[in-house]
Amino acid sequence: MTVQQEMKTLTHFIKGEEVAGTSNRFSEVFNPSTGEVIARVPLASRDEVKHAIQLAKEAFPAWKKTSIGKRVEVLHRFRQLLVERQEELINVICQESGKTKEDAKGEIVRGIESVDMAISAPQMLKGEYSVNVGGNINAFSAKSPLGVVATIAPFNFPVMVPLAITSMAVAVGNAVILKPSERVPISALYLSQLWKEAGLPDGIWTVVNGDKEAVDELLENKEIQAISFVGSTPVAEYIYQTGTKHNKRVAAFGGGKNFMIVMPDANLEQTANAFLGAAYGAASQRCMAISGALVVGKDTEQRFTEILKNKISQLKVGPYTEQDVDFGPVITKQSKETIIRYIDGAVSEGANLVIDGRHPKVCESSNGFYLGPTLLNHVAPEMTIFKEEVFGPARIVVGVDSLQEAIDLINDHELGNGVTMFTSSGAAARKFQEEIEVGMVGVNVPIPIPVGYHNFGGWKRSKFGEGHMFGPDQARFFTKAKTISERWPDETEDTTSSFAFPSN
Ligand code: NAD
Repeated sequence: MTVQQEMKTLTHFIKGEEVAGTSNRFSEVFNPSTGEVIARVPLASRDEVKHAIQLAKEAFPAWKKTSIGKRVEVLHRFRQLLVERQEELINVICQESGKTKEDAKGEIVRGIESVDMAISAPQMLKGEYSVNVGGNINAFSAKSPLGVVATIAPFNFPVMVPLAITSMAVAVGNAVILKPSERVPISALYLSQLWKEAGLPDGIWTVVNGDKEAVDELLENKEIQAISFVGSTPVAEYIYQTGTKHNKRVAAFGGGKNFMIVMPDANLEQTANAFLGAAYGAASQRCMAISGALVVGKDTEQRFTEILKNKISQLKVGPYTEQDVDFGPVITKQSKETIIRYIDGAVSEGANLVIDGRHPKVCESSNGFYLGPTLLNHVAPEMTIFKEEVFGPARIVVGVDSLQEAIDLINDHELGNGVTMFTSSGAAARKFQEEIEVGMVGVNVPIPIPVGYHNFGGWKRSKFGEGHMFGPDQARFFTKAKTISERWPDETEDTTSSFAFPSN
């Protein structure tokens, strides 16, 4: 598939084929770096989704019966293709998301970690076995795939998140339906081609493009056994409540407000460098982006803000096609306007603009959705900009008097995805690790995103339901256990009826 072809009307990917939409509803796909429309994506009707689910259901039994070794061979080939086509895939990601090439490459590498994890499925699927649990009975448990499972992805990682929520699901034997973000459907269609080339049987990987209508069918359709969702907190909550109401297994990963605690004993130069990339990378459109610094002590706060101010003013915003760009545009014009409203609102609530990125100088002729890096201080916990996730490059500095105050503020926050702390004190780090109410915790690490073989997931309103992304938990989420008790008596054994409850 070439970039030229992608600039037309897009399709779904059903039973191994590109299938044109029939709903006559479309959404525009933008190149955020130029503001141009590069494609239109069909928005599936409920009937189209039903049809895709039916075809996936028909494909499932044969894939389930395929030996785990053979299934994993397909994943090996898929992994190889991701590596071989990396440059093409980088271009697709950059074009529809506005990320820099370096950032897009990073997301592919992290996505491949999930494929690697899925390649270890044979290890994950090994069951448990007990000999002679009573009366020559052996007991064992085996893990079975669930059937047709649905995955729903956000815009900000067009490749990494789909790979994270689908790879293990495929490996353990399910038929997977992906509903990508309507902002970045081209990457998902590109992955579909790679799966086909890798030899995945038709119907095991499906892409239905769409919006709420398609999602609602996935949530309600009785053939869907589980839903793995990644996106904003309000939608995650809706997915969890609706999916579980329809008796589905649901893991719904939501938004984050991820603070960096800066202790007076931290190396402020190193900490500021860490803050810059973690806070503004990808135009801050990461669920694990650092949203702000909680700086302990007045003097540290002033020095840290001054260092940040100098460094931030040197950051370069621009299109992925230019060299040395630190980050690109935000995803849409509406998103840009929302972020500007957050900044305006914070100023009217009393915050101070240290750096104002509302009107960045990029290329004169560009209509891209650019925002420069913005830093606000004098931010209080009651302000909206402290309480809500801001998915764009407006970051905050908050002064606190003690580590305890910083921990309390974070623990009181409704979101709990990631957090980090910069310090040279082991005792402070230990207190922080023990007391903080957040799912992913870093010490002297800019973004504490776990590697692919550790579990990923936030606490509080950053995650609804059970199960983690990445890591061994994925294999558990996408399988169900069957426990079998088995006895093979010979002629001489006593098999008379017993009316007592079975015991050892
Ligand atoms: P979003 O919630 O708007 O959309 C996510 C998905 O849900 C998309 O596929 C979209 O089509 C669908 N959707 C949107 N509104 C819906 C509705 N009302 N009903 C049903 N489906 C709906 O999120 P986004 O803007 O694409 O992505 C950014 C958000 O995702 C941020 O909040 C970010 O923190 C979060 N995110 C979280 C993680 C995580 O691991 N926790 C990872 C990446 C992104």
